[in-house]
Amino acid sequence: MELKTKEFWFLVGSQFLYGPEVLDTVAARAAEMAAWWNESGKLPCKVVYKGTVKTDGEITKAMKDANADDACAGIITWCHTFSPSKMWIHGFDLLQKPYCHLATQYNRNIPNLEIDMDFMNLNQAAHGDREHGFIGARMRLPRKIIAGYWQDEPVLNELAAWMRSAVGVAFSRELKVIRFGDNMREVAVTEGDKVETHIKLGWQVDYWPVGHLVETMDAVTDGEIDAKMAEYRARYDFDTDDIATVRYQAREEVAMRKILAREGACAFSNNFQDLYGMEQLPGLATQNMMADGCGYGGEGDWKTAAMTAIMKKMAEGLEGGTLFMEDYTYDLEPGKEVSLGAHMLEVCPSIAAQRPKIQVHHLGIGDRQPPARLVFEGKAGPGIVATLIDMGGRLRLLVQDIEVIKPILEMPNLPVARVMWKAQPDLLTGVKCWILAGGAHHTVLSTAVTAQMMIDWARMMEIECVHISADTTPEALEKELFYNDIAWKLKNI
Ligand code: MN
Repeated sequence: MELKTKEFWFLVGSQFLYGPEVLDTVAARAAEMAAWWNESGKLPCKVVYKGTVKTDGEITKAMKDANADDACAGIITWCHTFSPSKMWIHGFDLLQKPYCHLATQYNRNIPNLEIDMDFMNLNQAAHGDREHGFIGARMRLPRKIIAGYWQDEPVLNELAAWMRSAVGVAFSRELKVIRFGDNMREVAVTEGDKVETHIKLGWQVDYWPVGHLVETMDAVTDGEIDAKMAEYRARYDFDTDDIATVRYQAREEVAMRKILAREGACAFSNNFQDLYGMEQLPGLATQNMMADGCGYGGEGDWKTAAMTAIMKKMAEGLEGGTLFMEDYTYDLEPGKEVSLGAHMLEVCPSIAAQRPKIQVHHLGIGDRQPPARLVFEGKAGPGIVATLIDMGGRLRLLVQDIEVIKPILEMPNLPVARVMWKAQPDLLTGVKCWILAGGAHHTVLSTAVTAQMMIDWARMMEIECVHISADTTPEALEKELFYNDIAWKLKNI
Protein backbone atom coordinates (compact mmCIF):
# COMPACT_ATOMS: atom_id res chain seq x y z
CA MET A 1 0.00 0.00 0.00
CA GLU A 2 1.36 3.41 -1.00
CA LEU A 3 0.37 6.41 1.08
CA LYS A 4 -0.40 8.49 -1.99
CA THR A 5 -2.79 5.90 -3.44
CA LYS A 6 -5.18 6.67 -0.58
CA GLU A 7 -7.82 9.40 -0.84
CA PHE A 8 -10.03 11.31 1.56
CA TRP A 9 -13.59 12.24 0.73
CA PHE A 10 -14.65 15.82 1.31
CA LEU A 11 -18.37 15.98 2.17
CA VAL A 12 -19.98 19.38 2.58
CA GLY A 13 -23.19 19.54 4.59
CA SER A 14 -26.09 21.79 3.62
CA GLN A 15 -29.88 21.70 3.05
CA PHE A 16 -32.43 22.92 0.46
CA LEU A 17 -33.50 25.98 2.51
CA TYR A 18 -31.23 28.46 0.69
CA GLY A 19 -32.22 27.73 -2.90
CA PRO A 20 -30.23 26.31 -5.82
CA GLU A 21 -27.99 29.35 -6.31
CA VAL A 22 -26.46 29.05 -2.84
CA LEU A 23 -26.01 25.31 -3.29
CA ASP A 24 -24.27 25.85 -6.64
CA THR A 25 -21.90 28.34 -5.03
CA VAL A 26 -21.16 25.96 -2.14
CA ALA A 27 -20.45 23.12 -4.57
CA ALA A 28 -18.16 25.27 -6.73
CA ARG A 29 -16.22 26.51 -3.72
CA ALA A 30 -15.88 23.02 -2.18
CA ALA A 31 -14.50 21.71 -5.49
CA GLU A 32 -12.13 24.70 -5.63
CA MET A 33 -10.90 23.97 -2.08
CA ALA A 34 -10.24 20.29 -2.84
CA ALA A 35 -8.34 21.25 -6.00
CA TRP A 36 -6.31 23.85 -4.10
CA TRP A 37 -5.36 21.33 -1.42
CA ASN A 38 -4.29 18.78 -4.01
CA GLU A 39 -2.24 21.35 -5.90
CA SER A 40 -0.63 22.71 -2.71
CA GLY A 41 1.54 19.60 -2.37
CA LYS A 42 1.16 19.92 1.41
CA LEU A 43 -1.06 16.88 1.90
CA PRO A 44 0.25 13.31 1.59
CA CYS A 45 -3.01 11.98 0.09
CA LYS A 46 -5.59 13.18 -2.39
CA VAL A 47 -8.77 15.01 -1.34
CA VAL A 48 -11.83 14.14 -3.44
CA TYR A 49 -14.84 16.43 -3.27
CA LYS A 50 -17.80 14.03 -3.09
CA GLY A 51 -20.64 16.50 -3.15
CA THR A 52 -22.79 18.79 -1.08
CA VAL A 53 -25.06 16.50 0.91
CA LYS A 54 -28.54 17.75 1.77
CA THR A 55 -30.63 14.76 2.85
CA ASP A 56 -30.47 11.69 5.06
CA GLY A 57 -30.45 9.56 1.90
CA GLU A 58 -27.51 11.39 0.32
CA ILE A 59 -25.47 11.25 3.52
CA THR A 60 -26.22 7.58 4.16
CA LYS A 61 -25.26 6.70 0.59
CA ALA A 62 -22.00 8.65 0.84
CA MET A 63 -21.05 6.87 4.07
CA LYS A 64 -21.89 3.43 2.63
CA ASP A 65 -19.82 4.25 -0.46
CA ALA A 66 -16.91 5.42 1.72
CA ASN A 67 -17.04 2.17 3.70
CA ALA A 68 -17.01 0.09 0.54
CA ASP A 69 -14.24 1.94 -1.31
CA ASP A 70 -10.77 0.58 -0.47
CA ALA A 71 -9.09 3.74 -1.78
CA CYS A 72 -11.01 5.90 0.69
CA ALA A 73 -9.06 6.19 3.96
CA GLY A 74 -11.43 8.60 5.67
CA ILE A 75 -13.94 11.41 5.32
CA ILE A 76 -13.58 15.13 5.93
CA THR A 77 -16.80 17.07 6.61
CA TRP A 78 -17.52 20.76 6.74
CA CYS A 79 -20.66 22.88 6.82
CA HIS A 80 -20.37 25.95 4.57
CA THR A 81 -24.02 26.60 5.39
CA PHE A 82 -26.30 25.03 7.98
CA SER A 83 -26.90 21.28 7.79
CA PRO A 84 -29.48 20.00 10.29
CA SER A 85 -27.72 17.15 12.04
CA LYS A 86 -30.56 14.66 12.40
CA MET A 87 -29.98 13.87 8.72
CA TRP A 88 -26.41 12.74 9.60
CA ILE A 89 -27.36 10.24 12.32
CA HIS A 90 -28.00 7.24 10.09
CA GLY A 91 -24.88 7.82 7.98
CA PHE A 92 -22.57 8.40 10.93
CA ASP A 93 -23.97 5.29 12.58
CA LEU A 94 -22.84 3.26 9.55
CA LEU A 95 -19.49 4.98 9.01
CA GLN A 96 -16.51 2.66 9.49
CA LYS A 97 -13.79 5.00 8.22
CA PRO A 98 -11.85 7.71 10.11
CA TYR A 99 -13.67 11.01 10.35
CA CYS A 100 -12.34 14.56 10.50
CA HIS A 101 -14.53 17.61 11.07
CA LEU A 102 -12.83 20.57 9.46
CA ALA A 103 -14.26 23.73 11.02
CA THR A 104 -13.21 26.27 8.42
CA GLN A 105 -14.65 29.08 6.32
CA TYR A 106 -14.35 29.83 2.61
CA ASN A 107 -13.68 33.55 3.17
CA ARG A 108 -10.98 34.60 5.57
CA ASN A 109 -12.39 38.01 6.51
CA ILE A 110 -15.80 39.56 7.12
CA PRO A 111 -16.43 42.12 4.34
CA ASN A 112 -17.71 44.87 6.65
CA LEU A 113 -19.17 47.18 4.04
CA GLU A 114 -20.71 44.59 1.73
CA ILE A 115 -22.09 42.26 4.33
CA ASP A 116 -25.85 41.65 4.11
CA MET A 117 -28.23 38.79 4.93
CA ASP A 118 -27.44 36.99 1.64
CA PHE A 119 -23.79 36.89 2.68
CA MET A 120 -24.77 35.61 6.13
CA ASN A 121 -26.90 32.82 4.67
CA LEU A 122 -24.14 31.68 2.35
CA ASN A 123 -21.22 31.99 4.78
CA GLN A 124 -22.37 30.56 8.06
CA ALA A 125 -19.79 27.91 8.95
CA ALA A 126 -19.64 29.25 12.51
CA HIS A 127 -23.31 28.38 12.77
CA GLY A 128 -23.36 25.16 10.73
CA ASP A 129 -20.22 23.60 12.22
CA ARG A 130 -21.67 23.87 15.74
CA GLU A 131 -24.82 21.95 14.81
CA HIS A 132 -22.59 19.47 13.00
CA GLY A 133 -20.25 19.14 15.99
CA PHE A 134 -23.10 18.50 18.38
CA ILE A 135 -24.16 15.30 16.69
CA GLY A 136 -20.56 14.03 16.70
CA ALA A 137 -20.42 14.61 20.45
CA ARG A 138 -23.93 13.24 21.03
CA MET A 139 -23.06 10.03 19.14
CA ARG A 140 -19.65 9.77 20.87
CA LEU A 141 -17.95 9.50 17.48
CA PRO A 142 -14.17 9.14 17.47
CA ARG A 143 -13.35 12.24 15.43
CA LYS A 144 -10.58 14.69 14.68
CA ILE A 145 -11.56 18.35 14.87
CA ILE A 146 -9.40 20.84 12.99
CA ALA A 147 -10.23 24.55 13.16
CA GLY A 148 -8.76 27.34 11.05
CA TYR A 149 -8.61 28.96 7.64
CA TRP A 150 -8.37 26.24 5.00
CA GLN A 151 -5.25 27.64 3.30
CA ASP A 152 -3.25 28.27 6.47
CA GLU A 153 -0.10 26.27 7.18
CA PRO A 154 -1.15 25.02 10.67
CA VAL A 155 -4.43 23.70 9.25
CA LEU A 156 -2.66 21.95 6.37
CA ASN A 157 -0.10 20.49 8.78
CA GLU A 158 -2.81 19.16 11.08
CA LEU A 159 -4.76 17.73 8.18
CA ALA A 160 -1.64 16.13 6.70
CA ALA A 161 -0.72 14.55 10.05
CA TRP A 162 -4.26 13.25 10.58
CA MET A 163 -4.26 11.76 7.07
CA ARG A 164 -1.11 9.85 7.97
CA SER A 165 -2.80 8.52 11.13
CA ALA A 166 -5.88 7.52 9.11
CA VAL A 167 -3.71 5.68 6.58
CA GLY A 168 -2.14 3.98 9.63
CA VAL A 169 -5.66 2.82 10.53
CA ALA A 170 -6.29 1.39 7.04
CA PHE A 171 -2.87 -0.27 7.04
CA SER A 172 -3.43 -1.71 10.53
CA ARG A 173 -6.74 -3.22 9.50
CA GLU A 174 -5.09 -5.28 6.78
CA LEU A 175 -1.77 -5.99 8.49
CA LYS A 176 -0.34 -9.49 8.68
CA VAL A 177 2.47 -10.31 11.08
CA ILE A 178 4.58 -13.46 10.86
CA ARG A 179 6.05 -14.98 13.98
CA PHE A 180 9.10 -17.13 13.28
CA GLY A 181 9.01 -19.20 16.44
CA ASP A 182 7.31 -18.20 19.68
CA ASN A 183 7.99 -15.49 22.25
CA MET A 184 11.05 -15.52 24.49
CA ARG A 185 10.50 -17.81 27.44
CA GLU A 186 9.16 -16.27 30.67
CA VAL A 187 8.93 -12.68 29.38
CA ALA A 188 5.57 -11.03 30.16
CA VAL A 189 5.33 -7.77 28.23
CA THR A 190 5.81 -9.33 24.79
CA GLU A 191 2.73 -11.50 25.33
CA GLY A 192 -0.77 -10.42 24.40
CA ASP A 193 -4.21 -11.44 23.24
CA LYS A 194 -3.93 -12.02 19.50
CA VAL A 195 -7.67 -12.37 19.07
CA GLU A 196 -8.19 -9.01 20.82
CA THR A 197 -5.65 -7.28 18.55
CA HIS A 198 -7.29 -8.90 15.52
CA ILE A 199 -10.72 -7.60 16.56
CA LYS A 200 -9.54 -4.15 17.67
CA LEU A 201 -6.65 -3.39 15.35
CA GLY A 202 -7.16 -5.80 12.46
CA TRP A 203 -3.90 -7.72 12.79
CA GLN A 204 -3.59 -11.28 11.57
CA VAL A 205 -0.70 -12.66 13.63
CA ASP A 206 0.43 -16.11 12.53
CA TYR A 207 3.09 -18.55 13.60
CA TRP A 208 5.44 -20.16 11.09
CA PRO A 209 7.94 -22.77 12.25
CA VAL A 210 11.64 -21.92 12.08
CA GLY A 211 12.03 -25.20 10.16
CA HIS A 212 9.97 -23.73 7.34
CA LEU A 213 12.26 -20.70 7.25
CA VAL A 214 15.36 -22.94 7.17
CA GLU A 215 13.84 -24.98 4.34
CA THR A 216 13.22 -21.74 2.42
CA MET A 217 16.78 -20.57 3.17
CA ASP A 218 18.19 -23.83 1.79
CA ALA A 219 16.36 -23.21 -1.48
CA VAL A 220 17.86 -19.69 -1.96
CA THR A 221 20.17 -19.66 -4.99
CA ASP A 222 23.68 -18.20 -5.29
CA GLY A 223 22.30 -15.76 -7.86
CA GLU A 224 19.75 -14.46 -5.37
CA ILE A 225 22.48 -14.04 -2.76
CA ASP A 226 24.72 -12.24 -5.29
CA ALA A 227 21.94 -9.77 -6.05
CA LYS A 228 21.37 -9.14 -2.33
CA MET A 229 25.11 -8.64 -1.79
CA ALA A 230 25.13 -6.03 -4.56
CA GLU A 231 22.31 -4.22 -2.76
CA TYR A 232 24.29 -4.31 0.52
CA ARG A 233 27.32 -2.86 -1.28
CA ALA A 234 25.24 -0.03 -2.71
CA ARG A 235 23.70 0.85 0.65
CA TYR A 236 26.42 0.16 3.23
CA ASP A 237 30.18 0.11 3.79
CA PHE A 238 31.78 -3.31 4.24
CA ASP A 239 33.87 -3.20 7.41
CA THR A 240 34.64 -6.93 7.40
CA ASP A 241 36.45 -9.49 5.25
CA ASP A 242 34.17 -12.26 6.43
CA ILE A 243 32.09 -12.35 3.26
CA ALA A 244 30.70 -15.84 3.97
CA THR A 245 29.02 -14.53 7.11
CA VAL A 246 27.49 -11.59 5.24
CA ARG A 247 26.30 -13.96 2.50
CA TYR A 248 24.57 -16.04 5.14
CA GLN A 249 22.61 -12.94 6.23
CA ALA A 250 21.71 -12.37 2.57
CA ARG A 251 20.38 -15.94 2.40
CA GLU A 252 18.30 -15.34 5.52
CA GLU A 253 16.93 -12.08 4.16
CA VAL A 254 15.95 -13.52 0.78
CA ALA A 255 14.14 -16.40 2.50
CA MET A 256 12.31 -14.19 5.01
CA ARG A 257 11.24 -11.78 2.27
CA LYS A 258 9.90 -14.69 0.20
CA ILE A 259 7.75 -15.94 3.07
CA LEU A 260 6.50 -12.47 3.96
CA ALA A 261 5.65 -11.74 0.31
CA ARG A 262 3.89 -15.06 -0.11
CA GLU A 263 1.78 -14.46 3.01
CA GLY A 264 1.16 -10.77 2.26
CA ALA A 265 2.83 -9.87 5.58
CA CYS A 266 4.55 -6.54 6.34
CA ALA A 267 6.03 -7.40 9.76
CA PHE A 268 7.70 -10.29 11.54
CA SER A 269 9.21 -11.35 14.83
CA ASN A 270 11.79 -13.97 15.71
CA ASN A 271 13.49 -15.19 18.87
CA PHE A 272 17.17 -15.91 19.53
CA GLN A 273 16.05 -18.90 21.64
CA ASP A 274 14.44 -20.49 18.62
CA LEU A 275 16.93 -20.60 15.72
CA TYR A 276 16.92 -24.35 15.16
CA GLY A 277 18.87 -25.13 12.01
CA MET A 278 20.09 -21.53 11.56
CA GLU A 279 23.74 -20.56 11.89
CA GLN A 280 23.21 -16.87 12.73
CA LEU A 281 20.56 -14.72 14.34
CA PRO A 282 19.38 -12.47 11.50
CA GLY A 283 20.96 -9.04 12.08
CA LEU A 284 21.90 -7.29 8.84
CA ALA A 285 19.03 -9.22 7.19
CA THR A 286 16.44 -7.79 9.58
CA GLN A 287 17.98 -4.31 9.50
CA ASN A 288 17.89 -4.18 5.70
CA MET A 289 14.24 -5.32 5.65
CA MET A 290 13.30 -2.64 8.19
CA ALA A 291 15.05 -0.05 6.01
CA ASP A 292 12.44 -0.88 3.34
CA GLY A 293 9.46 -0.41 5.67
CA CYS A 294 9.13 -3.86 7.17
CA GLY A 295 8.06 -4.07 10.83
CA TYR A 296 10.10 -6.08 13.30
CA GLY A 297 10.10 -7.01 16.98
CA GLY A 298 12.77 -9.08 18.74
CA GLU A 299 12.17 -11.97 21.15
CA GLY A 300 8.84 -12.80 19.52
CA ASP A 301 7.47 -9.31 20.19
CA TRP A 302 4.76 -9.30 17.52
CA LYS A 303 3.00 -6.24 18.99
CA THR A 304 6.08 -4.06 18.52
CA ALA A 305 6.68 -5.63 15.10
CA ALA A 306 3.19 -4.57 14.03
CA MET A 307 3.50 -1.08 15.54
CA THR A 308 6.86 -0.59 13.77
CA ALA A 309 5.24 -1.44 10.43
CA ILE A 310 2.26 0.86 11.06
CA MET A 311 4.39 3.79 12.18
CA LYS A 312 6.74 3.31 9.23
CA LYS A 313 3.70 3.52 6.95
CA MET A 314 2.51 6.70 8.69
CA ALA A 315 6.00 8.18 8.26
CA GLU A 316 6.30 7.37 4.55
CA GLY A 317 8.09 10.20 2.74
CA LEU A 318 8.88 12.19 5.90
CA GLU A 319 12.34 13.15 7.14
CA GLY A 320 13.58 11.11 10.10
CA GLY A 321 13.69 7.49 11.15
CA THR A 322 11.16 5.01 12.57
CA LEU A 323 12.47 1.87 14.20
CA PHE A 324 12.23 -0.97 16.66
CA MET A 325 14.11 0.07 19.79
CA GLU A 326 15.00 -1.22 23.22
CA ASP A 327 15.89 0.79 26.32
CA TYR A 328 19.24 -0.52 27.46
CA THR A 329 21.19 1.61 29.88
CA TYR A 330 21.30 5.09 31.48
CA ASP A 331 23.90 7.76 32.02
CA LEU A 332 22.90 9.24 35.38
CA GLU A 333 25.13 12.30 35.54
CA PRO A 334 22.95 14.67 37.66
CA GLY A 335 21.06 17.14 35.51
CA LYS A 336 22.29 15.54 32.27
CA GLU A 337 20.63 12.14 32.46
CA VAL A 338 20.27 10.30 29.14
CA SER A 339 19.16 6.90 27.94
CA LEU A 340 21.06 4.65 25.55
CA GLY A 341 18.97 2.42 23.36
CA ALA A 342 19.97 -0.34 20.99
CA HIS A 343 19.20 -3.97 20.45
CA MET A 344 21.43 -6.98 20.25
CA LEU A 345 21.49 -6.46 16.47
CA GLU A 346 18.29 -5.21 14.94
CA VAL A 347 18.35 -1.40 14.77
CA CYS A 348 16.89 0.08 11.59
CA PRO A 349 19.24 2.27 9.54
CA SER A 350 16.43 4.80 8.86
CA ILE A 351 17.79 6.70 11.92
CA ALA A 352 21.46 6.44 10.91
CA ALA A 353 23.49 9.65 11.17
CA GLN A 354 26.10 8.26 8.76
CA ARG A 355 26.42 5.49 6.19
CA PRO A 356 26.16 2.25 8.20
CA LYS A 357 29.05 -0.20 8.35
CA ILE A 358 28.66 -3.95 8.03
CA GLN A 359 30.63 -5.67 10.79
CA VAL A 360 30.85 -9.20 12.16
CA HIS A 361 31.14 -9.71 15.90
CA HIS A 362 30.57 -12.36 18.51
CA LEU A 363 27.07 -12.24 20.02
CA GLY A 364 27.03 -12.99 23.74
CA ILE A 365 23.40 -14.04 23.74
CA GLY A 366 22.23 -17.27 22.13
CA ASP A 367 24.50 -20.05 20.92
CA ARG A 368 24.98 -19.29 17.23
CA GLN A 369 27.86 -18.04 15.12
CA PRO A 370 28.94 -14.38 15.14
CA PRO A 371 26.38 -12.53 12.98
CA ALA A 372 26.88 -9.71 10.51
CA ARG A 373 25.11 -6.51 11.51
CA LEU A 374 24.96 -2.80 10.63
CA VAL A 375 26.72 -0.48 13.06
CA PHE A 376 25.95 3.27 13.22
CA GLU A 377 24.86 6.08 15.51
CA GLY A 378 21.40 7.66 15.53
CA LYS A 379 20.71 11.07 14.07
CA ALA A 380 19.72 13.84 16.50
CA GLY A 381 16.26 15.43 16.57
CA PRO A 382 12.95 15.53 18.42
CA GLY A 383 11.01 12.28 18.49
CA ILE A 384 8.82 9.87 20.37
CA VAL A 385 8.92 6.34 21.69
CA ALA A 386 5.69 4.33 21.59
CA THR A 387 4.75 0.99 23.05
CA LEU A 388 1.58 -1.08 22.92
CA ILE A 389 0.83 -3.20 25.98
CA ASP A 390 -1.95 -5.63 26.81
CA MET A 391 -3.56 -4.61 30.09
CA GLY A 392 -5.83 -7.66 30.19
CA GLY A 393 -9.18 -6.84 28.61
CA ARG A 394 -7.82 -3.81 26.79
CA LEU A 395 -4.82 -2.42 24.95
CA ARG A 396 -2.88 0.65 26.04
CA LEU A 397 -0.71 2.70 23.72
CA LEU A 398 1.92 4.62 25.63
CA VAL A 399 3.74 7.47 23.89
CA GLN A 400 6.59 9.53 25.29
CA ASP A 401 8.23 12.62 23.86
CA ILE A 402 12.02 12.37 23.57
CA GLU A 403 14.96 14.27 22.14
CA VAL A 404 17.44 12.13 20.25
CA ILE A 405 20.92 13.54 20.84
CA LYS A 406 24.36 12.98 19.41
CA PRO A 407 25.97 10.38 21.71
CA ILE A 408 27.90 12.13 24.48
CA LEU A 409 30.67 9.51 24.39
CA GLU A 410 32.61 7.51 21.85
CA MET A 411 31.68 3.83 22.17
CA PRO A 412 34.36 2.04 20.13
CA ASN A 413 33.74 -1.33 21.82
CA LEU A 414 29.96 -1.41 21.36
CA PRO A 415 29.43 -3.43 18.17
CA VAL A 416 25.78 -2.49 17.58
CA ALA A 417 23.82 0.43 16.21
CA ARG A 418 22.70 2.73 19.03
CA VAL A 419 20.61 5.78 19.74
CA MET A 420 20.96 8.14 22.70
CA TRP A 421 18.07 10.28 23.90
CA LYS A 422 16.67 12.51 26.62
CA ALA A 423 13.19 11.57 27.77
CA GLN A 424 10.50 14.15 28.62
CA PRO A 425 9.90 15.78 31.02
CA ASP A 426 13.36 14.65 32.19
CA LEU A 427 14.87 11.18 32.26
CA LEU A 428 14.11 10.32 35.87
CA THR A 429 10.53 11.65 35.90
CA GLY A 430 10.03 10.09 32.49
CA VAL A 431 11.23 6.70 33.74
CA LYS A 432 8.89 6.95 36.73
CA CYS A 433 5.94 7.74 34.47
CA TRP A 434 6.85 5.05 31.94
CA ILE A 435 7.08 2.37 34.65
CA LEU A 436 3.89 3.61 36.31
CA ALA A 437 2.02 3.15 33.02
CA GLY A 438 3.52 -0.31 32.41
CA GLY A 439 5.51 0.67 29.31
CA ALA A 440 7.60 -2.10 27.76
CA HIS A 441 11.38 -2.20 27.27
CA HIS A 442 10.64 -2.58 23.56
CA THR A 443 9.36 0.49 21.73
CA VAL A 444 9.01 2.03 18.34
CA LEU A 445 11.23 5.09 18.25
CA SER A 446 10.42 7.70 15.63
CA THR A 447 11.78 11.08 14.68
CA ALA A 448 9.15 11.32 11.92
CA VAL A 449 5.84 10.29 13.51
CA THR A 450 4.58 12.73 16.17
CA ALA A 451 2.79 12.06 19.46
CA GLN A 452 -0.31 13.75 18.01
CA MET A 453 -0.37 11.28 15.11
CA MET A 454 -0.29 8.39 17.59
CA ILE A 455 -3.00 9.95 19.77
CA ASP A 456 -5.19 10.35 16.68
CA TRP A 457 -4.43 6.79 15.56
CA ALA A 458 -5.37 5.38 18.99
CA ARG A 459 -8.60 7.40 19.02
CA MET A 460 -9.59 6.00 15.63
CA MET A 461 -8.69 2.45 16.73
CA GLU A 462 -10.65 3.09 19.93
CA ILE A 463 -7.90 2.04 22.31
CA GLU A 464 -6.46 3.81 25.37
CA CYS A 465 -3.61 6.25 24.73
CA VAL A 466 -1.35 7.72 27.41
CA HIS A 467 1.04 10.51 26.44
CA ILE A 468 4.05 11.42 28.58
CA SER A 469 5.12 14.93 27.61
CA ALA A 470 7.06 17.84 29.07
CA ASP A 471 3.96 18.68 31.15
CA THR A 472 3.43 15.22 32.70
CA THR A 473 3.83 14.68 36.45
CA PRO A 474 3.74 11.24 38.10
CA GLU A 475 0.93 12.44 40.41
CA ALA A 476 -1.34 13.52 37.56
CA LEU A 477 -0.46 10.44 35.54
CA GLU A 478 -1.32 8.10 38.40
CA LYS A 479 -4.77 9.68 38.60
CA GLU A 480 -5.22 9.51 34.83
CA LEU A 481 -4.36 5.80 34.82
CA PHE A 482 -6.76 5.17 37.71
CA TYR A 483 -9.64 6.98 35.97
CA ASN A 484 -8.79 5.29 32.68
CA ASP A 485 -9.05 1.90 34.35
CA ILE A 486 -12.58 2.68 35.50
CA ALA A 487 -13.61 4.26 32.21
CA TRP A 488 -12.32 1.39 30.07
CA LYS A 489 -13.99 -1.18 32.30
CA LEU A 490 -17.30 0.63 31.76
CA LYS A 491 -16.63 0.96 28.04
CA ASN A 492 -15.95 -2.75 27.69
CA ILE A 493 -19.13 -3.87 29.48
MN1 MN B 1 14.73 -7.11 23.06
